[in-house]
Amino acid sequence: MGLTQSLPWVGFANSDTDVSGSLFCSECMPGDGETLYDGRMQNKRIVLASRPTGMPRLENFRIEESEVPQPKEGEVLVRTLYLSVDPYLRSRMNEGKSYVPPFEINEVITGGLVGEVVESRSPSFQPGDIVTGYLGWQVYQVARSEDLRKVDPKFAPITTALGILGIPGLTAYFGLLDIGKPQTGETVVVSGAAGAVGMTVCQIAKIKGCRVVGIAGSDEKNEYLEHELWVDKTINYKTEPDIRGALKTACPTGVDVYFDNVGGHISDAVMTLISKHARSVICGQISLYNNEKPDVGPRVQPYLLVKSALMQGFIITDYAARFGEGMNQLGQWLKEGKLKYAEHVVEGFENAPRALLGLFSGENLGKQLVKVA
Ligand code: NAP
Repeated sequence: MGLTQSLPWVGFANSDTDVSGSLFCSECMPGDGETLYDGRMQNKRIVLASRPTGMPRLENFRIEESEVPQPKEGEVLVRTLYLSVDPYLRSRMNEGKSYVPPFEINEVITGGLVGEVVESRSPSFQPGDIVTGYLGWQVYQVARSEDLRKVDPKFAPITTALGILGIPGLTAYFGLLDIGKPQTGETVVVSGAAGAVGMTVCQIAKIKGCRVVGIAGSDEKNEYLEHELWVDKTINYKTEPDIRGALKTACPTGVDVYFDNVGGHISDAVMTLISKHARSVICGQISLYNNEKPDVGPRVQPYLLVKSALMQGFIITDYAARFGEGMNQLGQWLKEGKLKYAEHVVEGFENAPRALLGLFSGENLGKQLVKVA
């Protein structure tokens, strides 16, 4: 992963074009004349082949050929340009309902994506419109117009609809401001600090006049946080043998706001250092997503008790009615150059499963995307 200067508006893309071990099934390739749309297009889709045990493997996915569907009245045909690759997709590979239903075996993986309308039977969309929505991991698909939102490519690069101006940005915005309630001069600790949500949290906390301590899994990521995003202190949890000790040094007056993206032993350490009336925002627990058994850790209640502190989880859709407010503010900060973003772009539709696995080894700096076309 190389680092490039990140500019507001432009962000940067780390391109990973390694297609070795591609999942594409050669037996599934179309023969002459098969599955072509309009004489030009053929379709591919990624399905859940099996449920993982622990860390997912490429074998848990399968790439299939499918027909390019025809839109009916009120529908549009969308060509995928970018797929959003998100940690919660791992939870959906498990059986059993979480806050979203599980993927079914042999069914298409679904998630956020940005695409281009190639055919429209809806008055709301024209061919060439750029749209975003929760759709399937497919190259082409039909969508109902009410499930799509237009993206304005003149406002910002279209990939931002999946990152800083999409769910990760909104998650950072509402989680930090509504639950964390950071005050000027307070210390905010962010785990998963170099990810899509985390790096936005760090910057919003700086905008609010806080001292920010970021925890991430490489020196390269921490350099980015300190040198590009003005994060005050960083800790590399993979090389730091005493995370609590390092945090204590970095937060001499305690932790006023903890924005938790990862859970596990990192959060155990942070919770011992919370200050009076601290707020812990439980956004994600990625360190636990591949666990086969429920995690048992230190009990946090005594820390909350003696510090009169709060801890609250949230799901971003809790804030759906206020998304407009969040988008406006994030867009304004982006325009003013107060927010930057980074993107880690993996090339090629068939590499989407590999990109998902990469989230768990920390391959991404910023938003993980797959460029399809
Ligand atoms: P992300 O942070 O861009 O990517 C995941 C990162 O997690 C990796 O880059 C890796 O960075 C880190 N990580 C992976 N395994 C880890 C482990 N065992 N211990 C510590 N860190 C680990 O992903 P994101 O989309 O921005 O999401 C961040 C968190 O927010 C996730 O937990 C996600 O589930 C959650 N989320 C919640 C909501 C909500 O509604 N509550 C919405 C969106 C996202 P390192 O190199 O630092 O290890």
